[in-house]
Amino acid sequence: MYFYTKFPLNMYAIIDCNSFYASCERAFDPSLIDKPLAILSNNDGCVISRSKEVKALGIPMGAPLFKYKTLIAEKNIQIRSSNYSLYGDMSERVMKLLEDFSPEVEVYSIDEAFVKLPYSENYQVVGLHIKQYIYQRTGIPVSIGIAPTKALSKAANNIAKKFPEQTQGCHVIDSEEKRIKMLKWLPVKAIWGIGVGNTKRLENKNVHTAYEFTQLADDWVKRNMSIIGLRLKKDLEGKPTIQLEESVVHKKAIATTRSFEFTFSDRENLKERIVTFASRCAEKLRGQNSSCNVIMVFLRSDRNKHNNVYVRSKRVLTLPYATNSTLIINQYALKALADIYKPGIAYKRAGVILTGLVDTNALQLDLFQNENPKHKKLMAAMDALNGKYGVQKIKMGNQDLQRTWKMRQAYLSPEYTTKFKDIIVLNCATI
Ligand SMILES: [Mg+2]
Repeated sequence: MYFYTKFPLNMYAIIDCNSFYASCERAFDPSLIDKPLAILSNNDGCVISRSKEVKALGIPMGAPLFKYKTLIAEKNIQIRSSNYSLYGDMSERVMKLLEDFSPEVEVYSIDEAFVKLPYSENYQVVGLHIKQYIYQRTGIPVSIGIAPTKALSKAANNIAKKFPEQTQGCHVIDSEEKRIKMLKWLPVKAIWGIGVGNTKRLENKNVHTAYEFTQLADDWVKRNMSIIGLRLKKDLEGKPTIQLEESVVHKKAIATTRSFEFTFSDRENLKERIVTFASRCAEKLRGQNSSCNVIMVFLRSDRNKHNNVYVRSKRVLTLPYATNSTLIINQYALKALADIYKPGIAYKRAGVILTGLVDTNALQLDLFQNENPKHKKLMAAMDALNGKYGVQKIKMGNQDLQRTWKMRQAYLSPEYTTKFKDIIVLNCATI
């Protein structure tokens, strides 16, 4: 039906880094390879990323560190504080490499991206090539799912992850037969973006697999699961419905990117654009009750202007703590812009991407994690304290970006890629 007799013209790939934070640590510290390794949240509170060895030991996502101290010691589990400077930078490297395969890349989260692949006779070969290409250049292992739609590519990725030996970490859905087989294997709850409510609704209707979901009447789906549910169903049927930069789920990265009507070369116009995009992102972030740890800003020049060189530049900054405050996000967005802006270039496109997202409710509250609605109250408290103890004893984090609030990070690895003093030194013996 929707599949072309041979191969579809457009295929989506989702590239997902395996145990991303753990893999970043391992890329620079090979002694961690094959060892159980867990990464901790801000202030070393709980586990936010686990290597497959840690998963196998039964430590759940979000496990509080203090509860698992004994097991960690017994099993010699390695732990690291989250090093977002390293992860943000490694993420950017991976994403940049993907642009070598297609101009259409959607950064979906800190460790995942959708790529619209150009036509190929053999997508399995393309997928394995991407995997090897990224591993050779970054040391990060990835899993890849390739299919005619985004929802199908996510499902294909599940298969690649579940069966790494059989698939070599890349699974392609390029025939009706494979699509049906996958849908019959995929439980409803594992469908991309389906959510807890819809899973319950479907299970109550005795619908347990993605295949059974696609057999439901469009009317029923639309009535009970809204237009979003229906679009998801179409996507699973193999009909591309959810476009790049479009999502059905609670997002793991929030982006606002636009092409300008005219090209801009002056700093002031770009500043205005970036602040607008960053504010919009912060709003979306608060809308889904998340906070972010990493901000990326990019600029592109006009590819089609003949006399211009095509310029694309990107800057990744790590925030001093997870936040969804517009004030702080804007300030860092402008700092990133200042780092990459070059006069004399006709910029045509720009964007702000927030990633390294965490649930705001799950953040351990401390004085400086108060968000925008509370800024007013915080100001009042600060003024009172400063009045009592002396001027400027307490400052907002955004008054001075050179000074960051120190988190508790007892197990922090070096910033191998973003700090000169942390760059690995190789000692080469002469024979
Ligand atoms: Mg991943």
